[in-house]
Order: sequence, then structure tokens, then C-alpha cells
Amino acid sequence: MSDDVLSVIPTDPHWQPEPAAADRTASIVEDLTPGLPGGADVEIDVTWHDTLTVVDCGQNLQKIGCPHCGASIDTEWWGDLLEAHCDDGFATLAVVVPCCGTATSLDALDYD
Ligand SMILES: [Zn+2]
Repeated sequence: MSDDVLSVIPTDPHWQPEPAAADRTASIVEDLTPGLPGGADVEIDVTWHDTLTVVDCGQNLQKIGCPHCGASIDTEWWGDLLEAHCDDGFATLAVVVPCCGTATSLDALDYD
């Protein structure tokens, strides 16, 4: 059985809410998601990151598009990048994409 995960991620990658605000938000989300028919439970976790961290969607990632040249970016390149930063996170989102060599930001890529 697979799980469905909804991640709420700030648009500013350097921002995180204060703990009290995160707790209030989690409480509101809990009220809005009472569970599914048949007894499926809803679990809400608030996760904090000390560094810039990719929230990976795993097998749900279909493709990554380049916003500059429109090409599909090799997901193996993406996987290698995540693996290289899995322990320490990212110091910056700056990246040079392999398709056209353009300097851009990881949050500017077109994730499908
Ligand atoms: Zn490109």
C-alpha cells in the first residue's frame, strides 16, 4: 500500500515559520483532514530543516524541464545531485543545468 503525501513548502527557500505558527497550521490542517472512509488515518508531521533541503517526491517525479531551453533534464543528473547533497543539504540553490549549460536556480526548474 502506498501513502499519499502532501508537502507544504514555503516559496522562499530560506524561510521557515516560527514553531508556534507551524503548530497552529498543523492543527488547522488536522481539522480539515479528518481521515478517509474505511479508516485510513491522516498523519501530520511538521519538519524543520537546518539547510536548504530538497523535498523529494520520489517515484512521482515524471520529468524535469529546463525553463531556459525547454529541454527535459536527465533525471539521472537530478538523482546524482540529490545523492551528493543528501547528508549536508544545499548551501545554495544555484546550479548549472546539463542541457544548455545555463546558470539557474533549482527552484526555477520545471518539475512534473
Ligand atoms: Zn536547458
